Amino acid sequence: MSYQVLARKYRSATFDELVGQEAVAATLKNAILSNRVHHGYLFTGTRGVGKTSAARILAKALNCLGFDQPTVTPCRACEPCRRIAEGEDIDVVEIDAASNTGVDDIRILRGNAAFRPARCRFKVYIIDEVHMLSTNAFNALLKTLEEPPEHVKFILATTEIQKVPATIQSRCQRFDFRALPPARIGEQLDRILQSEQIRAESEVVKRIARLANGSMRDALSLLDKVLSFGGNELTAGLLDELLPPALDEWSYDLVDTLAAGDAAATLLKLDEAVGTGQTLDRIVDLLIEHLRKLMVVRVCGQDTELLDAPEHLRARFAQQAAAFDPPVYVFMVTLLEELRRALRSSGAGRSLADAAMVRLAMAPQFTDIRKLLAAAPADRPAAVADRPAPSSDRSAASAQPPTRLAGPAASTASGAGVAAASAEKKNWTPRPSSRSA
Ligand SMILES: [Zn+2]
Repeated sequence: MSYQVLARKYRSATFDELVGQEAVAATLKNAILSNRVHHGYLFTGTRGVGKTSAARILAKALNCLGFDQPTVTPCRACEPCRRIAEGEDIDVVEIDAASNTGVDDIRILRGNAAFRPARCRFKVYIIDEVHMLSTNAFNALLKTLEEPPEHVKFILATTEIQKVPATIQSRCQRFDFRALPPARIGEQLDRILQSEQIRAESEVVKRIARLANGSMRDALSLLDKVLSFGGNELTAGLLDELLPPALDEWSYDLVDTLAAGDAAATLLKLDEAVGTGQTLDRIVDLLIEHLRKLMVVRVCGQDTELLDAPEHLRARFAQQAAAFDPPVYVFMVTLLEELRRALRSSGAGRSLADAAMVRLAMAPQFTDIRKLLAAAPADRPAAVADRPAPSSDRSAASAQPPTRLAGPAASTASGAGVAAASAEKKNWTPRPSSRSA
């Protein structure tokens, strides 16, 4: 028998199997039981959290021929049940809006919708990534959504709800699919491993669950990858070889050292990540992404749609984000972006990275210096952000604007970049007061 990827093999097939989406499942079941199924649904949520599975389950519930009316427990055996599960039923049409974005596609759909279903009770249109539709296509869809034929149901799914026009949203019943907390993903992984008769150290499961970032599908692809190497016994050691360590915790820790202004600890943290075999490129990417999230939360608040993160992580981001003012984030992200560029052209990547870490740890001070300089525009050089790349001094390639600016304040700063890399980290004292809460 050919190998079937886990995400397919273990796709939820009933409402009760919809892992982590209990509220959605309960509401849909209620709608079916009370004969109040809406003509249009909008499923939103990050990828791999069960939107398409839920859409197929609903389609089966409406069309299962094992019962003479819609049911909350489709039989999974009749022809429609089986075809719908594979995404290829004649009456349940799945459209990927990413590749069918045009108005013509929607016109064809509207033409077909007028005809009664071939054998099922309802024609169901599942439109994936619906936010990808063109404006004209949305307008065409809107007309059908306003007055759909009795026998038609629409299930629209999207990962980017903010790109779905309000007119469409208002005509659908919206369900928000939650990103899954690592614990839930872990439970599901355990169940699957058990039924696959594979033994795995609990550390393995935990780490895959964390790496999956809220997406069950990503968790299963990772597990597939590990299984293809590991046979029937998964150990943490094997995982170290195959998957990057879950640096999410590391990112939090590193930012904590920055918030404490503890450059020595920051350097140790960097060393720790490098020691796991991560490339500097990836480490920098990861840090930029983490700081970006903190910045977004700091500026927009923890409920912002700009942040793609599950509830429990939002609170955590918000907590950490308070450590710095928004300008400090801007400064840090800019600095890392410059480091990323410098890494590509330099053979001294590690030195540059170390220097950048020390500068990050002193970021609150640097941004304060900027404020001081801004207050005295007379001797202020051109905007710090667009100074030319330094050519003479390599250690400055990861760019520290304030070091070259002026006076006594700057000398403290410029010395520190290198000094702290040696044992002289007590030469300067971070000023906690420069950070605001
Ligand atoms: Zn059935």
